[in-house]
Amino acid sequence: TTFADLGLSPELLKAVDDAGYTEPTPIQAEAIPAVLMMKDIIGIAQTGTGKTASFVLPMIDILASGRRRALMPRSLILEPTRELAAQVAENFEKYGENHDLKMALLIGGVQMGDQVKALNEGVDVLIATPGRLMDLFERGKILLNGCELLVIDEADRMLDMGFIPDIEFICEKLPEPRQTMLFSATMPPPIAKLAKKFLTNPKRIEV
Ligand code: AMP
Repeated sequence: TTFADLGLSPELLKAVDDAGYTEPTPIQAEAIPAVLMMKDIIGIAQTGTGKTASFVLPMIDILASGRRRALMPRSLILEPTRELAAQVAENFEKYGENHDLKMALLIGGVQMGDQVKALNEGVDVLIATPGRLMDLFERGKILLNGCELLVIDEADRMLDMGFIPDIEFICEKLPEPRQTMLFSATMPPPIAKLAKKFLTNPKRIEV
């Protein structure tokens, strides 16, 4: 399989080429076409497998059309730590540099005022840790009913950190139908249960 076989736009094929990638990794080869076809996916993959690009690349293509609305982000990526959230944001900037997509990073340790300002301008991609997102939601600073694309990344680490109740709360605020992608290195029962509750007929990809 080559990147050109996966259904990505010419702009993204160029971004991939600029990044120096010659061929898709196994998770990318399976996940990218499925995400572009609007399927839910469960990706059982460790970091280092190229899993970030497997959701960031097709999300950029999906988000490239459509309009932003103030306070209503169009997609949400949940990460367990600030560091991982910042890395995903860097990936979005790298692959999306030729797209006019607005990103907001909602993590602890950053002034909430700046985050609220970014939200008020309209956001395509919200990249957040559960704690800060819950905090802003409870203060009425954010509406989640425009998030038709959701990524729950590193779900097993979310579990270890006690974030599953927060994730359930957040999932319940998101619209239906929506497209959900869940990534985890392992599938312990609470994660399988979460997936069963919030994903619809997901494609399971194990690498
Ligand atoms: P990740 O598993 O998302 O943390 O990605 C691990 C590393 O692999 C990152 O540094 C990426 O830049 C790199 N990477 C992602 N996709 C590819 C690819 N198709 N070919 C070579 N390197 C890649």
